[in-house]
Amino acid sequence: MGTGRVVLVVAAGRGERVGGDVPKQYRMLAGQPVLRRTLQALLQRFAPGEVRVVIDPAHRPLYEKTVCGLGLPEPLAGGPSRRESVRAGLEALAGDPPQDVWVHDAVRPFVSTTLLDRLAEALATRAAVVPVVAVADSLVRRSDGAVERYVPRAGLARVQTPQAFRFDLLLRAHRTVPCGDFTDDGSMVWACGEEVATVEGEEENFKLTTPSDFARAERVLATRRTVRTGFGFDVHAFAGDRPLVLCGVGIPHQRGLAGHSDADVALHALTDAILATVAAGDIGVHFPPSDPRWRDADSAQFLRYALEMLALAGGRLEHLDLTLVCEEPQIAPHRDAMRQRLAELTGLPLARVSLKATTTEGLGFTGRREGMAAYALVTAGFAEGEPT
Ligand code: MG
Repeated sequence: MGTGRVVLVVAAGRGERVGGDVPKQYRMLAGQPVLRRTLQALLQRFAPGEVRVVIDPAHRPLYEKTVCGLGLPEPLAGGPSRRESVRAGLEALAGDPPQDVWVHDAVRPFVSTTLLDRLAEALATRAAVVPVVAVADSLVRRSDGAVERYVPRAGLARVQTPQAFRFDLLLRAHRTVPCGDFTDDGSMVWACGEEVATVEGEEENFKLTTPSDFARAERVLATRRTVRTGFGFDVHAFAGDRPLVLCGVGIPHQRGLAGHSDADVALHALTDAILATVAAGDIGVHFPPSDPRWRDADSAQFLRYALEMLALAGGRLEHLDLTLVCEEPQIAPHRDAMRQRLAELTGLPLARVSLKATTTEGLGFTGRREGMAAYALVTAGFAEGEPT
């Protein structure tokens, strides 16, 4: 028998029941893929090296994006059914078997450390443990839309994951139990005639299967939300020989702004403000002016990069407020086009894109028409837990 443990996260399903064009474990839930939320919950208790995700190799690009920065080992290749995926994961580990193996559904993102502790404690003395939740509703068997009979609910419970086992016991069950209606791993161990112990599960640890489950999950996360603000500031000098680009919009004007990139002072301030929500430094750290790649670059790519960093940290942009400071050009004739472009670039509705302009009454460098300044303030929402 080996030592240590491996947590298999079963994420190979195609998830057609929910609809949409990505499998449900990769669907966004409050700005983050479901699978990433599930993994972050497990990583509260387990080391990254203990967690192995079983995926459909066809989903590899989606997977890579989903787990970026979590430090997990290589994923394992699953099969066409849940059972075959778990089996494939177990077989992949069998060469150097751990003492214990846990199996968890990728679409149960609300597993708590309390539940994980309860399972670990039970597994210290038992060989197979599953979490269960008592059934509160009355139960019936239906036939043709009518009740065929009532099923007494006393003693009945619903079985959740994670489920925890001695590795050799679960591998034996998967190798020996014939095909049948097995919806989880505990049932296969039980079919081998082995005892399966139970611990109290949690109502909150529900499985995301239907669109209404997703709606419920969004509501749960909304109650756990935190908010951060980020601030950004930038200045560029006017230069005679360049096009003027502000908020991603080309502005007809006799002078542009000097700078290594397209010198879009507004998008630079906005990018810094978004980076600030995840304390990720400033635009110069990520896109150094010394790098020839950014010569005349479209600053929209800096903004997209910052938004991606925010999303990876579990955040979502909720509002932005930009102030442009200049004597020229006049901003008012271009304000609608700029707000529209900002909404496109950020994915925000127009009502959450604020754009203001002011002069400095002829004072200072903007007053002398030497350059422009931009101030940006953004609000980002984060689901519960420390962003990573
Ligand atoms: Mg700049």
